[in-house]
Amino acid sequence: MAKKSNSGTSLMGYSKEILKRDGYRCRYCGLDGSLSFSNWLSLCRDHLLEKKNSQRAKKEYIVASCQFCNGANNRHFERSGYKALVGQETPTPEKLVDFRKPFVEETRKEYFAFWEANVRASARLGLSEIGGVAASFAELVGRNAVEVYNEFSLQHELGIFIRAMYPNRKVQFERNVSFFFPDAPKNSFTKREMDVAVFSDDPTNPLFSLELKFPRNGQHPEQMFSFCKDIAFLEELVRAGFPRAALLIFADDPGFYEGNLNEDSSPLYGFFRHERPIHGEIQKPTGEKDGMVTIQGEYTVKWQTIKGPLKYALVEVDRTSLGLAEPGDLAPASGEGKGATDGN
Ligand SMILES: [Zn+2]
Repeated sequence: MAKKSNSGTSLMGYSKEILKRDGYRCRYCGLDGSLSFSNWLSLCRDHLLEKKNSQRAKKEYIVASCQFCNGANNRHFERSGYKALVGQETPTPEKLVDFRKPFVEETRKEYFAFWEANVRASARLGLSEIGGVAASFAELVGRNAVEVYNEFSLQHELGIFIRAMYPNRKVQFERNVSFFFPDAPKNSFTKREMDVAVFSDDPTNPLFSLELKFPRNGQHPEQMFSFCKDIAFLEELVRAGFPRAALLIFADDPGFYEGNLNEDSSPLYGFFRHERPIHGEIQKPTGEKDGMVTIQGEYTVKWQTIKGPLKYALVEVDRTSLGLAEPGDLAPASGEGKGATDGN
């Protein structure tokens, strides 16, 4: 004889049609059950009307929801203006969803603050936000879950990884600086394109930017100089308005992270092979007259092993690195909190 149904049969049974109708997305936060198996497992259905309402069991008054949003709105819902809203006539399901949404978002915001401070990997590991992204990504590469074999694959795979980490953010490639700073003079940036840019909603809300390097053909001092050039570029982005920016270097050629100081020829070897702080005016190793960058902050490169000879280093720039005050509207917490409640 068949077993009595339990909630586990809901996804394949009585919730199936509702979820399909709503495109397998939570009507409150937009979580998409068709994107991953674990997303789908966390979907359920949410009754929009209270138990005594005669229309409660009608399909149109039941919507797809993730389990968190389902519970989140109940917390505040009953004692709110629900009764006034329902009144004599039952509102449309759309109206009811819109009515519940702010309660869901309020609860999600509280949970986001808790997650950010206590649960997020970077917080637990004592790393910065970007530090956490880099460490988690490097860990995937280290156990061969992701393959990175040149600079383009690094950009591509890391972009996918960041997009999964920040579902409500825009993660874009090769964006021109003018997209974020249309009024900045052309010559105020060392480069024009950012490898990866992460922002919320629109370019006036940048979150962070990444420059990526994975040199494959030796030329150590020249490449090291290009790392410095990227750091100068990151400083420009932060000065212009990015809260944070970072350079992520992958290297499997030990010449980038160990070996002689070669102090007579260039300070570059000291920066990348011996943890000497990067700061000030740095000359291009080939001695070209135009080849010079100035770095205002002070940065120490620390290499972390990924696997075998493959290592990574992360150089982070934020407003503190440049001695600038942290403006309230650029604080990471507020930007994140906002994004976490973005339903779509
Ligand atoms: Zn949800």
